[in-house]
Amino acid sequence: MLEDAGLQALREAARLSPDNLPLRRHLGEQLLAKGHLADAETELRAALMLAPRDPDVTASLAETFVRRGSYGEALAALEPFLATPGYPPRLGVVAARALLGEGDFGRAAYRYYDAVTRDPSSADPEVATALALPAAPTPAPAPAPPPAPTPAPAPAPPPAPTPSPAPAPPPAPSPAGPPASSLGAGAGGGYPATAAGPGDGPAEVERARTTFADVAGMDAVKESLRVKLLLPLQQPELFAAYGKRAGGGVLLYGPPGAGKTHLARAAAGELGAAFISVGLADILDMYIGSSERNLRATFDLARRNRPCVLFFDEVDALAARRSDARNTHNRQIVNQFLAELDGVDQNANDGVLVLAATNAPWYIDVAFRRPGRFDQLVFVPPPDAGARAAILRILCRDKPVADLDFDAVARATEHMVGADLKGVVDRAVEVKLHESMRAGHPIPMTTMDLLAAAKAARPTAVREWMATARNYVLHSNESGAWDDLLPWVKGKW
Ligand code: ADP
Repeated sequence: MLEDAGLQALREAARLSPDNLPLRRHLGEQLLAKGHLADAETELRAALMLAPRDPDVTASLAETFVRRGSYGEALAALEPFLATPGYPPRLGVVAARALLGEGDFGRAAYRYYDAVTRDPSSADPEVATALALPAAPTPAPAPAPPPAPTPAPAPAPPPAPTPSPAPAPPPAPSPAGPPASSLGAGAGGGYPATAAGPGDGPAEVERARTTFADVAGMDAVKESLRVKLLLPLQQPELFAAYGKRAGGGVLLYGPPGAGKTHLARAAAGELGAAFISVGLADILDMYIGSSERNLRATFDLARRNRPCVLFFDEVDALAARRSDARNTHNRQIVNQFLAELDGVDQNANDGVLVLAATNAPWYIDVAFRRPGRFDQLVFVPPPDAGARAAILRILCRDKPVADLDFDAVARATEHMVGADLKGVVDRAVEVKLHESMRAGHPIPMTTMDLLAAAKAARPTAVREWMATARNYVLHSNESGAWDDLLPWVKGKW
């Protein structure tokens, strides 16, 4: 490709002054802007040798990694900065892009939200759209309402600065999913869908149609949920006889796609309780005090619909360690969440079973693990071969199938989690549907169809998740909180 004269002149100047940091940084940024990613990486790495802690060079290098689909490398480059309070917001936005690429929606939202509340001009409409959050705080039509009373000791901070005129336009609706862009274009790219946009009000009340019979494997997990959640409500006399009260939540953690949401919904169905699934977009709001009000409204909705299973997905973004929360607003959300879990009085949350899911339990403030809050941590493991066969059997139920060898397909889908297996079955069904339409009659799905679909699929991030988990289990497990993970992280992944 012919490159423009300006770029050529810059390259030549950098060759003649290899120690000129501003020049090399500028060249790296220009190369990045024009999509010469390999050259940009070389140039920015060289600039970083000259100034190892330069945040702008680091941000551009990380951006280059993101655009090449190397999300882990981007996060590794950013990590030293992100661990320092007050890091430049632009780095947080690039981190959000990398986390989105990894499918870590919760932490992406946390980083992005933190960055744009500190500096609205760092907003990235593309990331905002993917997260279904506003791109930046928009000017309030009326003065921001006073914050809801919270147990936070600190006074409410002044409203986030609202630039005028409003910078980024609101994200364009994208019914067909995330915008085509460099984001998520690399290996395993693509964003999880979000169900609702901000300001849609509290989540909706569902009647779950699935029960534990629809959850394959996970016998130990189901048993522990039964004892914790179901028996106290099904046999209150027994619990009362021992002076025990039902209550306290359960934190489900494990790799993405392992079935945490599926399990929570099934728990509600098993119990005949209402089910409220809460995503970040139902809670997070840029206006000071609004996120806290959304949390309260969500808990109130659950209290009005008892018995109810209230499920928080990606909870690490709402319950992050307060020492990590770099702005007061985030800390107030955590405080409000703790206050709602405790309830205004002893009976406030009777009949409300709070379940939460996270892929990153180590980011959660330890205050959430106290009795009456998320006092039980339950690991939702990736399925072994037997569990994969059982999941496949459930997924193929009610479909026109031949005599399927589920064990063979399970053997061919090592390291895949429930969500991956669902993808395999969906793909095979689609192919069969096309064939059936051409033939004019239904053709049953065979083992070969599933094997072919499995071959074309790639497992999501279980290996990467296990590598991260291994770090936490081996290096910060003083309280024994991650003991359940020990045998898993020692396995071969
Ligand atoms: P997570 O919440 O852990 O990211 P999900 O609960 O969203 O994962 O799982 C994605 C899909 O995978 C579910 O909708 C379900 O169809 C399927 N799935 C996962 N685990 C199981 C299981 N144990 N039994 C049956 N289906 C499962």
